Amino acid sequence: MKALRWYGRKDLRYVDVPEPSPGPGQLKVRVALAGICGTDLKEYASGPVMIAAEKAPITIGHEFAGKVAAVGKGVSDFRVGERVTGVGYYYCGECYVCKEGRYNLCVNQGFTGLFTDGCMAEYVIVPAYACYHLPDGVSDEAGAMVEPLAVALHAVRQARVQLGNTVAVVGDGTIGLCALLAAKAAGASEVYVVAKHRGRGELARALGATAVIYLSDGSPVSQLQKISGGPGADAAIECVGYPDTPQLTVELLRRGGIAVIVGVFSQPGTFEFSTMTFPEKIMVGSSIYVHEGQTAVDLLADGRIDASPLVTSLVPLKDAVKLGFEALLANKDANIKILLRVP
Ligand SMILES: [Zn+2]
Ligand SMILES: [Zn+2]
Repeated sequence: MKALRWYGRKDLRYVDVPEPSPGPGQLKVRVALAGICGTDLKEYASGPVMIAAEKAPITIGHEFAGKVAAVGKGVSDFRVGERVTGVGYYYCGECYVCKEGRYNLCVNQGFTGLFTDGCMAEYVIVPAYACYHLPDGVSDEAGAMVEPLAVALHAVRQARVQLGNTVAVVGDGTIGLCALLAAKAAGASEVYVVAKHRGRGELARALGATAVIYLSDGSPVSQLQKISGGPGADAAIECVGYPDTPQLTVELLRRGGIAVIVGVFSQPGTFEFSTMTFPEKIMVGSSIYVHEGQTAVDLLADGRIDASPLVTSLVPLKDAVKLGFEALLANKDANIKILLRVP
């Protein structure tokens, strides 16, 4: 079968590999669409960041929609031919955090497309517990958005967003825009997106942002207070991962507000802790998802979330480097989520 393999930084190759078969508890999925995640882009542009480089070459990708091609021993809730999507995590089920049901924090965690071969291929092997049925009303395009949506839904849960809240989202990438959709679905009345790229900011407006705050227009904190007429956001979600974005996220909050850190950081930053002490602000991390994959499917199925505007192009898997990865690096205004069509 054909697969897009990571050999090293700036070295992705479209090659032939043997077709895999599912082990116990696993599904073999015939991939229809695979999404390019910010994580995949980082591994291409400046990796290895999280990818198991010692296992290279490794097929990348963990966002997909497709059909079950085979089921492993012990799998009873999926049948060959059913449409499915999935998320990326593997967990052990036995460590102390797994025993608490917090599988996203598993100490023995694996991840499709980083530690095992991923979905930018004709077939992918995934654990059945990380897969979800796609109802007829949810297209493959929407199905391929379930994984990033699940990340955003978990972040909104960590933020304890309540009906009527004001939420600030820092970041205009896929996760930031998914956090906007998730916060609205959770009942936030006002959602402000702090953006760097005008094209993405316009998309945030089209997706229902109350207003977009551009970094180039001056202090985002005074912009937020001016536009909202209030003291700041009840919750703010950091979806960037730059050294200075956690500080901004905390400063966007009202007193007693909650900041959620979703970004993946490659360098440390500085942080003024006095901005936490007297206003009693709370900061909490958010790592991938637990059961939010199913929640994402349900919200797409009943129309409370429409992720289709986030898909800015569909390109053939064989052209992934030029029309996918390079396009994303070159033009952040025009490209958000690029889906690869698998032949
Ligand atoms: Zn992803
Ligand atoms: Zn575990």
